[in-house]
Amino acid sequence: MNQSNPVRVRFAPSPTGRMHLGSARTALYDYLLARRLGGQFILRIEDTDRKRFVPGAEQELIEGLRWLGLHYDEGPDIGGPYGPYRQTERQEIYLRWANELVERGHAFYCFCPPDRLEKVRQEQLKNKQPVRYDGTCRHLDPDEARRRVRAGERHVIRFKMPYEGETRAVDALRGEIVWQNRDLDDAILLKSDGLPTYHLAAMADDYEMKITHVIRGSEWLSTFPLHVNLIRALGWPEPVWIHLSVFLKPSGKGKMSKREAAAALNDGYSIFIKDLKELGYIPEGVLNWIVLMGWGVAEDDVMTLEEMVQRFDIRNLNPAPAAINFSKLDHFNGTHIRRLPADDLARRIKPYFERAGYSVDDTLLLRIVPLIRERLVTLDDCLPFAGWFFKDNVTPAPETLVPKGLTPAEAASVARRVYDLLAALPEITHASAEPPLRALVEALGLTPNQVFGLLRVAVTGQAVSPPLFESMELLSRETILARVQNAIALLERM
Ligand code: GLU
Repeated sequence: MNQSNPVRVRFAPSPTGRMHLGSARTALYDYLLARRLGGQFILRIEDTDRKRFVPGAEQELIEGLRWLGLHYDEGPDIGGPYGPYRQTERQEIYLRWANELVERGHAFYCFCPPDRLEKVRQEQLKNKQPVRYDGTCRHLDPDEARRRVRAGERHVIRFKMPYEGETRAVDALRGEIVWQNRDLDDAILLKSDGLPTYHLAAMADDYEMKITHVIRGSEWLSTFPLHVNLIRALGWPEPVWIHLSVFLKPSGKGKMSKREAAAALNDGYSIFIKDLKELGYIPEGVLNWIVLMGWGVAEDDVMTLEEMVQRFDIRNLNPAPAAINFSKLDHFNGTHIRRLPADDLARRIKPYFERAGYSVDDTLLLRIVPLIRERLVTLDDCLPFAGWFFKDNVTPAPETLVPKGLTPAEAASVARRVYDLLAALPEITHASAEPPLRALVEALGLTPNQVFGLLRVAVTGQAVSPPLFESMELLSRETILARVQNAIALLERM
């Protein structure tokens, strides 16, 4: 691509539902391609299907893109030189091109009532013929058709597909595809409500917005020949076409369904971007997971968005279906969490503590981060591991204080020995406390698990925590002693 023809890639979602993995992956590839080639990334909202319109869907898309860090150069909320970027605001453009197609003999007015079309369809199905428009209005006298339109008769505009020969087009992942024109349909371009179908609107916008690469789902392969015929009829330049692979459900058998999506949520996963955010996944992890579903990278596959941009190449995209694998999501999320600078991770987990009702001391939080980061798969894992740091008191269930193999009375006496030992230390640190406590374990003829387990529950209130001695270092001497004292009292009352 040269200077006069800069790369322009658009993400063109329909606001018909929630933003899911499929839309996020398309947007990501759009972004990577545009950034890789120094071009522009554009957001266009394809909202002409008013029956399937979902209020709030556009906002969720915009927020999803923002959260993922896929910043676009032009879009409905920020404008740009080729706006408006919502199709319902571009109606006259489509009308103009629909008329142009009729004028040039590539499209025709169709007055067929829906019930007649339905009868034709049933008939074709019964006779095992291809289902397609039967051509009735295609052969109307153009003047007669125009007169009926002017008289206000209800109509649509259909594309005049060539009946003979073949259509050839190239998909960058699949190579050349050939269709027999007799198998193609006279698709509707402009509906009776005056709104365009996807076919006309998307092609006209891609032309008007000077789009150079179209990345879209493979569900558009079946109407791909219509799109190229339409573009060619108007003599428009053809973009590079890329039809992505489909997603399969985790079992690899079949496409993701509503039921599967609900099942995933039960397991703490989701195919929706907003849910993933709420479940404690970080954009870095989600992006890394998504980018590899259809892109084969040979080397290390842990990448930041910036690294993806450097390495992205459409020649490595894979048209084979990609099965959703949530354990990979966990893997990438944990990996990217561990790569975050401590202050960044602290900033991201802070809201989870606050939402749980803790008042968070930033200095303490920053010191907790190195103790827990290895164990976090999602951000909200910070709560069970480290929530206790922000509690004034911990109240373990007494029985959890009793080590395996000991009676409560024996446990109480162990706790007293531990207390005396700690109370004798001027400062309780990892270095000052561990060696004498290990000696105590020996002297008592117990195992480290028994003694340290008791101490852990006494100090943290729970059986699973970050490393015990490092954790104790973050607490004051008084707090530690008070908690052991409290444990002794609990054990004595058992
Ligand atoms: N609005 C279409 C969809 O959401 C976009 C397809 C395309 O990118 O051209 O499937």
